[in-house]
Amino acid sequence: MDEKDLSHFAERAARWGADYRAGLGERPVRPPLEPGAVARQVAPVPPETGEAMETILADFERVIVPGMTHWQHPRFFAYFPANAAPASVVAEILVAAMGAQCMLWQTSPAATELEVVVTDWLRQALGLPDGFSGVLQDSASTATLAAVLTMRERALGFTGNRTGLADRPALRVYASREVHSSVDKAVWIAGIGEDNLVKLPSGGPSRAVDAAALEAAIVADRDAGRLPAGIVSCVGGTSVGGTDDVAAVADVAARHGLYLHVDAAWAGSAMICPEFRTFWTGVERADSVVVNPHKWLGAQFECSAHFLRDPESLVRTLAIRPEYLKTRGRDGVVNFSEWSVPLGRRFRALKLWFLIRAHGLEGLRSIIRDHVRWAAALADGIATDPAFELVTPPMLSLFSFRYRAPANVDPDRFTLDLVEAVNRDGRVYLTQTAVDGRAAIRFQAGAFGTTEADVLSVHAVVGEVAARLAAEIAA
Ligand code: PLP
Repeated sequence: MDEKDLSHFAERAARWGADYRAGLGERPVRPPLEPGAVARQVAPVPPETGEAMETILADFERVIVPGMTHWQHPRFFAYFPANAAPASVVAEILVAAMGAQCMLWQTSPAATELEVVVTDWLRQALGLPDGFSGVLQDSASTATLAAVLTMRERALGFTGNRTGLADRPALRVYASREVHSSVDKAVWIAGIGEDNLVKLPSGGPSRAVDAAALEAAIVADRDAGRLPAGIVSCVGGTSVGGTDDVAAVADVAARHGLYLHVDAAWAGSAMICPEFRTFWTGVERADSVVVNPHKWLGAQFECSAHFLRDPESLVRTLAIRPEYLKTRGRDGVVNFSEWSVPLGRRFRALKLWFLIRAHGLEGLRSIIRDHVRWAAALADGIATDPAFELVTPPMLSLFSFRYRAPANVDPDRFTLDLVEAVNRDGRVYLTQTAVDGRAAIRFQAGAFGTTEADVLSVHAVVGEVAARLAAEIAA
């Protein structure tokens, strides 16, 4: 295939994509496959000569599509959503065609300047004050790693990158037990070490970190000669939506001069609705905040918005300027690779620009409000059904529940088997979690294509599969 064939095959690919999405509801959400089933169908050695695009596309449909889990499926209720709204897909097609590398202003001026403007649109949409500057990272994991590296460097007077961490007091990072595993990974990679990530108890209906315990841990560490570096606060934790009282955590951070990073990777998208902003009251006092438009807002993966009150600290931590990256005569321009761990970067702003313009903020708000309302209705139905147990109440559109296991059956085993049986059934897709040490089924509504009927169907589907499972066990 060469350039002259691009228009034909690109048009076919776009048409295939539209048909695929229109027919998603007819497919099982997760394919009923055993590991290795796809790899067995792919040639083990690469071809020496080029193959016809017709053959390649036919293999794509035959081998790949049946092996995909369908994240745009209307009954995808697992993990968190990864919406790719049509407007953002179109932008991604254009970005793919241009194939630009957007590491420096001069390598793609429009990409850089649009990123500055569009992250500011998003800042306004989320109700963050105008002191915050934004950058689009590939993932929340990267944003949190950048935040942890910045807190480390700030605590060390920006000498850690140069001289390393040997012979330094132990750096300490604080978070609740509800934070995502990307925080653990960030402290590994930053050389701080897992033992120096202090996971504090959380409690109350929102599973907020215990601010008094947080403060006591910081004081004890200082007294013991350790070096507190920063706090990661959680708004909408992955397991069941654990949410800190950010204002209380910000008070502690301010009293001890610590960096505060807020992880709102999933729940942050809902903050475009003013009525949900009480979930992160105090966020304006954070040093950095991460919100993933690639989860609930509709921007195709990857698109993680990282807001900073003082981007200079991040740039001092991550900027490196060898001769081949210098941009002479361009003083004052933003070079976003200096705000990120990787050097190379995609043109991520275009899809956000297309998305926000195509839906308008009101359009996006109404999608999110529907999801929250429908999840509440499903949770109500489950809570009043004696066969079920509501384990944690909805935080936005996320809650957890169980089907009551038959007598003499280990309830955790039953819950995990039930999740697997539901996902093999294929009508809906759910995942499990652990709540206070016990297995629970996790539900979130967030797919742009979902309807109220899709959401409410979970009650009947899980009930039916659970009754079948219980009967099999009894037999
Ligand atoms: N933070 C939270 C609360 C999450 O739920 C997730 C992923 O689900 C992440 C961070 C990591 O996100 P990413 O996949 O963008 O690294």
